[in-house]
Amino acid sequence: MSIQSNLNTIKATLPEHVTLVAVSKTKPVSDLMQAYESGQRIFGENKIQEMVDKYEEMPKDIQWHMIGHVQSNKVKFMAPFVSLIHGVDSLKLLQEINKQALKNNRIIDCLLQIYIAEEESKFGLDENELNELLFSPEFKEMKNIRILGLMGMATFTEDKNQIKKEFTHLKSIFDSIKKIKTENCNLNTISMGMSGDYQLAIECGSTMVRIGSSIFGGR
Ligand SMILES: *Cc1c(COP(=O)(O)O)cnc(C)c1O
Repeated sequence: MSIQSNLNTIKATLPEHVTLVAVSKTKPVSDLMQAYESGQRIFGENKIQEMVDKYEEMPKDIQWHMIGHVQSNKVKFMAPFVSLIHGVDSLKLLQEINKQALKNNRIIDCLLQIYIAEEESKFGLDENELNELLFSPEFKEMKNIRILGLMGMATFTEDKNQIKKEFTHLKSIFDSIKKIKTENCNLNTISMGMSGDYQLAIECGSTMVRIGSSIFGGR
């Protein structure tokens, strides 16, 4: 199957309110260009240097999403152009993003990553840490970031009930905070679902799916 037909097949199944992030990590620019030529404009990468390299090579109307874990000292490299950072999991990281956004005279959109899996290896805030962050005085003062919603990754398992439970948990956390409306908080996005579980994620309330291997093939 070609990248174009994979994309078209997936797009045909997505409801209108769900945004598709084409996860292109490890794939060459030539593959991304095939997706671009079939109309895809949102790409997700998990390494900052790789995203910067691809940004420099590719058309400038692409929206680049950082979906991986972000180290504070690397934020400056993507701050001029990144469109959405999915994996924000601390106040400290958010402060660095705010600082670099200010330097670039822009507002950077972010999602807060919530820990929903039963795995040691996944990053993210728990519900208490999320509320602490959102109601902290430091957060209130950040004028160059905007929180658009939450991101989560389910446990890597075949157990659909387990995954469904985790997605539903993320949706309920989102519902508990979605009324917050401030200058730097406008909550309308739940980023959950990958190649193996995006249909289930959409059933559970996802508004943004991050799909890699089903578009570009295995890595
Ligand atoms: C790699 C990755 C994806 C895409 O995974 P696929 O199974 O290839 O669709 C989605 N989200 C994150 C955070 C990733 O790192």
